[in-house]
Amino acid sequence: METVSRVLHWASEQLSQAGVENPSVDAERLVQHVLGAPRLDLYLNPDRPLTPSESARLRDALRQRCSRIPLQHLTGETEFWSLPFFVNDAVLIPRPETESLVEAVLAQLRDIPHPRIVDIGTGSGCIAVSLAHERPEGLVVATDLSPAALRVARANVLRNKVHVRLVAGDLIEPFGPSVQFDAIVSNPPYIRREGIETLQPEVRDHEPRLALDGGEDGFSVHRRLVACAGRHLRPGGWLALEVGWWQIGAVVKMLRGSEDFETVTRYKDLTGIERVAVARRR
Ligand code: GLN
Repeated sequence: METVSRVLHWASEQLSQAGVENPSVDAERLVQHVLGAPRLDLYLNPDRPLTPSESARLRDALRQRCSRIPLQHLTGETEFWSLPFFVNDAVLIPRPETESLVEAVLAQLRDIPHPRIVDIGTGSGCIAVSLAHERPEGLVVATDLSPAALRVARANVLRNKVHVRLVAGDLIEPFGPSVQFDAIVSNPPYIRREGIETLQPEVRDHEPRLALDGGEDGFSVHRRLVACAGRHLRPGGWLALEVGWWQIGAVVKMLRGSEDFETVTRYKDLTGIERVAVARRR
């Protein structure tokens, strides 16, 4: 008979053979998802038998995960900033390191009442929703080029009961010349185009290219943002950008080299990698 403890063990072995990075974590999540049970229940009731329908669903999910479909696409959701987010293959799956970007923006805006913030390339909406959750009295706007991504972002805005205005368009283009913000924040695509083929299959085959592709050198969207952001920031406002682990030096240099910005600050992520550059508009 299939019991929780047996399927956990067996699922983890299969995932490991398929080259999945954290097989036991993913096995737990898939079993939880199929049973609709909190994690603790798996360990409190290790001998609980699975019904035939649960077994069938678990096998199906496991087969898909072994073909390297991301776990979050199978469960349909993930967590960011301790909030729940729907995800699908139209958006980048929120990464924990992006929480440092949210933290950096909140720190800069601490003393600014009713801050006006725009999140460029919002994807799932994770950054905009988290900022709106922390600063509900502010104005949070989010843009994305992809209508499918904006649908996911809208679902996440509703799910988290926050106010975010969603706008379709490229970078900051949707806004007229008179629109100025206290902060512009973005986690732009920053993988070198050639490097995309070497990424793990979950990312390479299942996350949107639009969310990954940073052009020939990986900096093309950072470059475009640095060039246009100044016009839409009030003097003293902030541009906060996430960067790849190897990009901080070059992005800081880009910001220092721009006439629009001064005082560039770097922030580390939880693993100690410098992940975020924040520049102040002159
Ligand atoms: N803003 C979203 C995130 O940080 C999407 C970023 C992207 O698609 N590059 O997860």
